[in-house]
Amino acid sequence: MLALDGAGRIVATNRPRWRGRWLSPEDRTDLQSLHARTEMRGEHLLVSLPAAEGRRLYLKAAKNLPVLDWSVAVFFDASAVTRQAATAALIAILLTLIVTGLAWIVAERRLRLQARLRGERAAALRLERRVRDRTRDLTRANQRLGEEVREREAAEAELRRTQDELVQTAKLATLGQMSAALSHEFNQPLAVIRSQADNAELLVQRGRCAEAGESLRKIAAMVDRMATISRTLKGFARKPGTQTQPVPVGPVIDEALMLLSPRIKRSQAQISFERPPRELAVAADAVLLEQVVMNLLVNALDAVGEEGGEIRITTETCGGGEVLIRVIDDGPGIDAEARGHIFDPFFTTKDVGEGLGLGLSIADKIVRDFGGQLVLEESLEGGAGSVFAVHLPQAELAVAG
Ligand code: ADP
Repeated sequence: MLALDGAGRIVATNRPRWRGRWLSPEDRTDLQSLHARTEMRGEHLLVSLPAAEGRRLYLKAAKNLPVLDWSVAVFFDASAVTRQAATAALIAILLTLIVTGLAWIVAERRLRLQARLRGERAAALRLERRVRDRTRDLTRANQRLGEEVREREAAEAELRRTQDELVQTAKLATLGQMSAALSHEFNQPLAVIRSQADNAELLVQRGRCAEAGESLRKIAAMVDRMATISRTLKGFARKPGTQTQPVPVGPVIDEALMLLSPRIKRSQAQISFERPPRELAVAADAVLLEQVVMNLLVNALDAVGEEGGEIRITTETCGGGEVLIRVIDDGPGIDAEARGHIFDPFFTTKDVGEGLGLGLSIADKIVRDFGGQLVLEESLEGGAGSVFAVHLPQAELAVAG
């Protein structure tokens, strides 16, 4: 501190070197003669004074004492303030750095986010474009497929029409063949009936009634034969889609054997039938199934001939809900060429008047209507004879209540 009198002399100071010095009126503000450097900071005058360790900064506060005509100046050590200011500046810089850093991180993140969003948008657009392309391709493929389906449907309709025409043609051909066979089959008994009727008339006129009766019996036999032929044809002409119901297998075969018993006795064939359990049943129609079995048996009897041979009837259940009825004979069998034709209508190797060639084709048709199959199997152990197998769907017999 220092105190100046009105003339500008330092009259009191705590720095002994300053005592007694004169300060010109100008020097009172810049204190050059005291080796001070001054600078204004806002309203405050900062003074840098020499000190033992160099220079030190002071804040000057001055006051005039008019009574004494003195002016007193006090220099406060400003280094603490400048230190604080430096610290504050440092903190401000650090804060600025942190804030800038944070801002930079945020900006960086935002940029990255924007870049990612841009990338995602671009990928979504690419995907959309691909989906659009793919959809267009698919639509085109669909249209092509639709056209192909329409063409195929048209082709199928055409095929069906052609098939129908073929079936119709085949029907007409069959009808022609059938009428030829029919006239052949009916002509013979008709001729016999005619001659037997004439015969009977003559015999009655001559009073030989017993012989006339014989002729009438022959006529009746011929009528029976014609009735049989007509029945067979009825079976051939029947419509498919017959209602099936559970039919017990054993009784149907028994019935067929019973109906054929005169024929069986005549042929002296050995017939064995392994009777199945009573509850074994198939989905069929009893009368038609009986006709199938009879057709197979008649063929077997024809095959073994009058001298007798062995015929076996077996039944078995197989997997998949199927029942198998086999008619096996030890006759001459069927040669390779005939095998391909035996199910054709009117195919027969029998003499005229003995076979119409309809038995197997009718049996085959009936079995197929039941949802089954009639198969000519290889004869057992490669021996002679024939094995016909009827495959039929198994059925449950309703329990009689
Ligand atoms: P048909 O008995 O009136 O000739 P089918 O359709 O029943 O007519 O039989 C056709 C042909 O199949 C017979 O003529 C015969 O040659 C042959 N056939 C059928 N069953 C047998 C059998 N068990 N053994 C040998 N040949 C058979």
